[in-house]
Amino acid sequence: MSGNEEERLEGNTEQTPETAPVPAQNAKKTERPSKRPDVSYTPVSNGMDYLVSVFQNLTEGATPPSARNLKYTVLHLQAATEVLLKARLAHEHFSLIFADPTQATRAAWRKGDFKSCQTLDAFDRLRNIACLEIDDDDRKRIKDLGDHRNALQHYGLTHNAYAIESRAVAVLDFLITFIHKHLIPGLEAAEAHGVERTMDSFRLQLKGIEKLVRDRMNSLRSELAKVADVTVECTDCEQWALVVKAEGTECLFCHQTWDEAGGTTAAANYAWIVLGLDAHHAGIADGGAPPVVDCPECGACALVTEAVTASERPSATPLCFACGNTFSDLVDCEGGCGAVLSIAPDEEAMHMCTDCVSARYAKF
Ligand SMILES: [Zn+2]
Ligand SMILES: [Zn+2]
Ligand SMILES: [Zn+2]
Repeated sequence: MSGNEEERLEGNTEQTPETAPVPAQNAKKTERPSKRPDVSYTPVSNGMDYLVSVFQNLTEGATPPSARNLKYTVLHLQAATEVLLKARLAHEHFSLIFADPTQATRAAWRKGDFKSCQTLDAFDRLRNIACLEIDDDDRKRIKDLGDHRNALQHYGLTHNAYAIESRAVAVLDFLITFIHKHLIPGLEAAEAHGVERTMDSFRLQLKGIEKLVRDRMNSLRSELAKVADVTVECTDCEQWALVVKAEGTECLFCHQTWDEAGGTTAAANYAWIVLGLDAHHAGIADGGAPPVVDCPECGACALVTEAVTASERPSATPLCFACGNTFSDLVDCEGGCGAVLSIAPDEEAMHMCTDCVSARYAKF
């Protein structure tokens, strides 16, 4: 793909961030890359075209891909996801791709002149209305991809090559299955045939990228084995390679790092991104304990009580992202202050923190 075509593809995304699939008969009116002027661009082939670009950007340049290649990987992967999800949604009923389906009219749809729903709305409608079996992990990945695309548009590229590559693999895997299971069956024979052929090439290229990611993880295996008790899933690349230490937390796979002072942020990010727990609201809303509490060892608000380490998974292990300690004997302070204490079962200690002890006995 030439630079020009890339700019045009990107331009397409930027001008109409809520890329709406338009009916095939209207597609000629829209600006499209000119390499196949006689072919009408259906939403599906439009989405497939973005995917061709994603694979080119991931595989045809340097290893790991350059910043520019990564930028188009994220932009075009997001565009592909949006277009393909909406293509399936429009197949269910055209009104469903309107932001507000009650305002849908066939005339507006034909003209492509309407506000279309967000990508995540499309995902939810596919699940709730079209009853497709698509799962929460994929929803989360698509959300992350959208957030990442927006951050990239506004602040430039902040994620590194390994993290983008690793996360792109998961989204590509979802899309390839989605196209095969949910899109191709609704296409006319000729288009289905063309899409299926492109899919063979996508699968092959995806295997190649997956192998790169796997090889990289394999090369880290012996190093990670030594620190499995403090290794968790990375917030950035989703690999089990985030090693929590007092000197600083680092992902050996993608090199995401938090310095000594970053424990509290690392803990909140981990609880939110990996465990899906909001450090500020979740615990309070459902009456349970907050996901990140003050560490009984170092005092920092960086103890993730439900952390899952590589050595103990799937069980939870309380892990402090500031001092790197794990705990097996945490008890809640009986004073009801929400503090957790590290007291072994056979230890004869009061299950109450010093604050609660002084508050209670000050009265006497
Ligand atoms: Zn990572
Ligand atoms: Zn600590
Ligand atoms: Zn207390």
